[in-house]
Amino acid sequence: MSLPDSGKNMLIDPSKRKISYLRVSLTTRCNFRCLYCYGLPDFVPGPDPKLKDEQLLLLLNAFAKLGIEKIRFTGGEPLVRPGIVDLVKAASAIEGISRIAVTTNGLMLSPLLPGLIDAGLNGLNVSLDSLKGDRFKEITGHDGFDRVFGGINDAIASGIFPYVKINMVVIRGINDKEISNFAQWAIDRPVDIRFIEFMPTDKSGWGKDRLVPEKEIKERIGLPITELPRSDLHAGPAQSYAIDNGQGRVSFISAVSHSFCKNCNRLRITADGNVVGCLFGKRQFGLKEILDDNPTEAELVEVLKEMITSPGFRRKVSKQSISSEQPSMRRIGG
Ligand code: SAM
Ligand code: SF4
Repeated sequence: MSLPDSGKNMLIDPSKRKISYLRVSLTTRCNFRCLYCYGLPDFVPGPDPKLKDEQLLLLLNAFAKLGIEKIRFTGGEPLVRPGIVDLVKAASAIEGISRIAVTTNGLMLSPLLPGLIDAGLNGLNVSLDSLKGDRFKEITGHDGFDRVFGGINDAIASGIFPYVKINMVVIRGINDKEISNFAQWAIDRPVDIRFIEFMPTDKSGWGKDRLVPEKEIKERIGLPITELPRSDLHAGPAQSYAIDNGQGRVSFISAVSHSFCKNCNRLRITADGNVVGCLFGKRQFGLKEILDDNPTEAELVEVLKEMITSPGFRRKVSKQSISSEQPSMRRIGG
């Protein structure tokens, strides 16, 4: 990657992709056990060696100096991290950060939402894979449909989010019969239904027979849709479509049937302080030890520059799509 000296610092990788977006996993812990994410019924949570708040904020400040404009808190379940509202507040006060978003399973959303909005949250994705309570429980291992749905409605009613984004992982034989119901929801409500192709991650139970490719999802939506242009900051894997006469829209995240590397504008930080250049790559740089040595922000900026410019840190733009098993999203932050 190159770091142009003129004007604002920018991270541009050798494939000319501008890096402006950081996804930050706040914990590996979660109050759900989604079948496709870490769905072993006997899962016992291990230790959660996460960065301390002050270490994380130092890191976010350093990344902001390097041109990061948008931060998404994810996990595990980010809302189970104690002090989440204060973290959002501190992150949104960082100079240069214009977007703070959260991806959540929504279980704890309603009570936390007012505080999160006051703290500066301006983007929200809620994962929801079924509109039926019993199926929801089968998928997540939790009887929390009403709470999640209530949280989504509260978020819509707040009027803060242009669209409340709903992440639905489509799995054949599990929830694929609900594709058109989800799309219908976007006619009446300002939601962005993001149909996500099931990805082959560790212990996800993935198989080709479980995958519903984007082409088939589009056919099964059964509504006229029109492709929308992408903006720079939102460049990423999702391609959005307007629905004729709809308040909401639909989007597709299709890592299996399409390569989206050419639009990738992001880096990831795992909960224990590893920086990940590519969701589908193996390279990670551990920062925990460096952060434990109490670096100054300027020192950390230099470390990050060196790390990010090292060869092979980001996968080249490639037409290949993923085929082998990736680490669980819960570990890497989705
Ligand atoms: N717990 C939060 C949630 O569920 O929204 C945030 C973390 S979760 C790992 C982030 C996203 O990854 C969720 O939308 C989830 O549906 C998605 N995800 C997890 N495993 C996946 C898989 N194998 N294929 C596709 N998406 C997956
Ligand atoms: Fe938890 Fe999110 Fe994974 Fe479901 S997808 S188990 S809510 S981290």
